[in-house]
Amino acid sequence: MTYDKNNIFNKIIHKEIPAHIIYEDEHSLAFMDIMPQVPGHVLVICKECATNLEDVSTHALSHLIHTVKMLAPIVAKSMGKAGFQIRQYNGKQAGQTVFHLHFHIIPLNDQETLKGHAAVIEDDIILKQQATHIKAALQ
Ligand code: 5GP
Repeated sequence: MTYDKNNIFNKIIHKEIPAHIIYEDEHSLAFMDIMPQVPGHVLVICKECATNLEDVSTHALSHLIHTVKMLAPIVAKSMGKAGFQIRQYNGKQAGQTVFHLHFHIIPLNDQETLKGHAAVIEDDIILKQQATHIKAALQ
């Protein structure tokens, strides 16, 4: 699949549309999922133009997974969760809806129920509060 630069995450990278960013470095960007499956659902994306695991460079993927590993326990702990899932979808048939490589950090407690994938938009004020909270934990 050809990478489409008009995808929403590429626009977030270039600050053309807003997002509640919790972390940014040279290679990666992390922000609140607008349709979270649980409170504290964070997306971590690479800055390289890659659709998914099939076309990302090993270099960019290595930086990206390093950021995921660094952020996930802090996101979970700051949201009062005991653990976390990491999810990553490849291809429309597998459920991918935004075609720019990203990992989902889904902080979870025991038997916590997840909402549907990309289903319901969260109140912007709540997302902002959660981002502020997570960012404080990252300091
Ligand atoms: P995918 O289905 O590609 O693995 O996941 C895409 C994720 O991006 C979904 O969880 C969806 O809720 C989220 N998402 C879609 N559009 C936007 C947006 O404009 N802003 C943010 N922050 N998240 C989005």
